[in-house]
Amino acid sequence: MKDFAGRSSLFRRSRSQVRAVDEVTLSLHAGRTLGLVGESGSGKSTVGRLLLRLVGTTSGEVLLDGSDVTGMRGKALSRARRSMQMVFQDPYSSLNPTMRIGDIIGEPVAFHRKLKGDDLDAEVERLLVSVGLSATHARRFPDELSGGQRQRVAIARALAPNPKILVCDEAVSALDISIQSQILNLLLELQQEFGVTILFISHDLSVVRHVSRDIAVMYLGQIVEFGPADRVVDSPAHPYTAALLSAVPEAKPSHGRARAKVLLQGDPPSPSQRPAGCPFVSRCPAAFEPCHVIRPEHTPVDGGGTVACHLQTSGPKLAGRPVPLELMRTAPREAPTESA
Ligand code: SF4
Repeated sequence: MKDFAGRSSLFRRSRSQVRAVDEVTLSLHAGRTLGLVGESGSGKSTVGRLLLRLVGTTSGEVLLDGSDVTGMRGKALSRARRSMQMVFQDPYSSLNPTMRIGDIIGEPVAFHRKLKGDDLDAEVERLLVSVGLSATHARRFPDELSGGQRQRVAIARALAPNPKILVCDEAVSALDISIQSQILNLLLELQQEFGVTILFISHDLSVVRHVSRDIAVMYLGQIVEFGPADRVVDSPAHPYTAALLSAVPEAKPSHGRARAKVLLQGDPPSPSQRPAGCPFVSRCPAAFEPCHVIRPEHTPVDGGGTVACHLQTSGPKLAGRPVPLELMRTAPREAPTESA
């Protein structure tokens, strides 16, 4: 759980607490990719930062190989940090413009793995080649490279300490579409080569699906759906997941049937004004009575994973099972407006 201090104002001296992440439980499996998807402000980047201990938890644990990272200090924390590296969104601001590429990648190799001289140069070259660049790039500066090449350097730098976990936070969002797929394929190849576990954070479900084995969907600081990527994308159980999918152009309907169309209206409420019941209730076209007052618990979904939605437990049934979203009238009756 993570609370941030809200803003104080002229009229209100005391600072309120804003809950950015609320009772999130996620497990990363070695060598696999977990996709974490949600709109801007959903709390997904805060989860990545909590994992790396770039911000502290308000309560709860972050376990790495069974040890709680949140209470670590000194050498133990430094070892844990080496095990978990991050690739940021903007390859233009995340690389020091005054350093040569060889030094940007060489610095963490020298610091964490104590390599020097020819061994260090050889390792920098190996990392450059593994991300699709060449030894000649070591002598260049970041502003001599394209956006895609810079992101490759950022990935090589993140891999330099031999981490167990790579957190990619909107790592392809700033890149052209054609370059995005190259970087996503590179991440898949590197996962095979280095065996690294990836937490892939993005607002774009189509991008997340491309690289993830499992997907967690986050809304207003909570995980609302989790499961195998194919099940989540082909048969979303939460109206919010269906809404995210509705925004993705569909070349060919999966399994020969059309996806549920859920059109999102308005913006999420402020995290400081959470609804008492379901966090999605103010925007959900399928909301019914209990949604306003009872917070839904996670329940298992056919095909794997869980969903936090009352439709699964007390909603309308078809042959004893929750009515699939595509059979419900989940699109609003009137054309959506900018502000609902
Ligand atoms: Fe919609 Fe209710 Fe399900 Fe929340 S619990 S997603 S409001 S149907």
